[in-house]
Parts: sequence; C-alpha cells; structure tokens
Amino acid sequence: MKVLITEDQIRERVAALGRQIEADYQGKPLTIVAVLTGSLILLADLIRQIGLPLRVALLQASSYKGATMTAGALIINEAFAPDVIGRDVLLLDDILDTGHTLSTLVARMHERGANSVKTAVLLRKLGRQEVHLEPDYCGFTIPDAFVVGYGLDFNDDYRHLPHVGILDGMA
Ligand code: 5GP
Ligand code: MG
Repeated sequence: MKVLITEDQIRERVAALGRQIEADYQGKPLTIVAVLTGSLILLADLIRQIGLPLRVALLQASSYKGATMTAGALIINEAFAPDVIGRDVLLLDDILDTGHTLSTLVARMHERGANSVKTAVLLRKLGRQEVHLEPDYCGFTIPDAFVVGYGLDFNDDYRHLPHVGILDGMA
C-alpha cells in the first residue's frame, strides 16, 4: 500500500471544507445528500465541522461492481431518498471520476424539487472526466490511479483505512 494522502492531511482539508460550507450556507435550508457507500466516512467527519442547522440524507449509487474496476451501468437506489423540495442540496461523494454519477444525481435532485444543488467530493481524478461537472467543493486532486481507504473500497474491503492509498500493483 502506498499512502497518497495521510490521515492528518485529510483531517485538515475536511475541516477547511467544513468552514467554507458553513460560510456559504448561512441561513439556508441545507440538506447534505451523501452517496453511499464511499462517502460515509467523509459525511461523518464533514458534518461535525459545519456549525449550522442541516439535514442529512442518503442515497445509494453504484457503478463499480465487485472486483472489477471498469464502470458498469449506474444503479441509483432512492429508497431512502429525502424530500428535498425547497431545500439547498449539497451532494457528497467520495470521488469524482468520469462524472457520470454526480451529474446524474444533480439532475435527479433538481427533478425532485431542490431549490439549489451543489456538489462536494473528497477526491477528483485528473484526466478521467467524461461529463463536464465542476465540483463546488473538492478536497484533493489526485493522479489517475485506483485508490482505497477513507470510505473508498476495493471489492468492499479497505474502506476503514484512515488514509487514502494506492494498492500495490495498481499505480
Ligand atoms: P464516476 O461516476 O464519477 O465515474 O464515478 C464515481 C464513483 O466511482 C465513485 O463514487 C466511486 O464509488 C467509484 N470510483 C471511481 N474511482 C475510484 C477509485 O479510484 N477507487 C474507488 N474505490 N472507487 C472509485
Ligand atoms: Mg461511489
């Protein structure tokens, strides 16, 4: 495992993002909609850095299936999807790769009646985007490698690592 971003670097950056979000959403009806499962750790850490009233909601999207690393069809499970009518939605995901997941979800939130929709990601991969989407909040830009840890998995393992790393043989 090669550590790409340390636990300390993540903590500092997430705190800074929290302060930025707090400043931007003063007096607004904020709902943070986290994309399961990869953004779980980020969600828990980030919301504790935002000193504002806010709602949390979850939805599930998956395109990476099991051990494969090529994206399959995007599956969105809105079983727990929130009522976002009139809310200012901040979509939260672990990583912006091709952009298909977040751009699809931004459109869904508008369809569901959100007042505004912005996006926040921990990571953004260079040179991979197929859909134009500029994240409103981004933790780190990383090279095009398959990363794990801090919520991100490989075959459903490694999510619990406190840092972000590249598995041996995957750089
Ligand atoms: P996109 O739709 O932007 O191509 O893909 C976003 C989703 O793909 C992320 O939510 C994440 O689940 C998955 N993904 C993309 N790149 C990586 C990666 O390097 N590592 C892991 N573990 N998941 C990734
Ligand atoms: Mg994901």
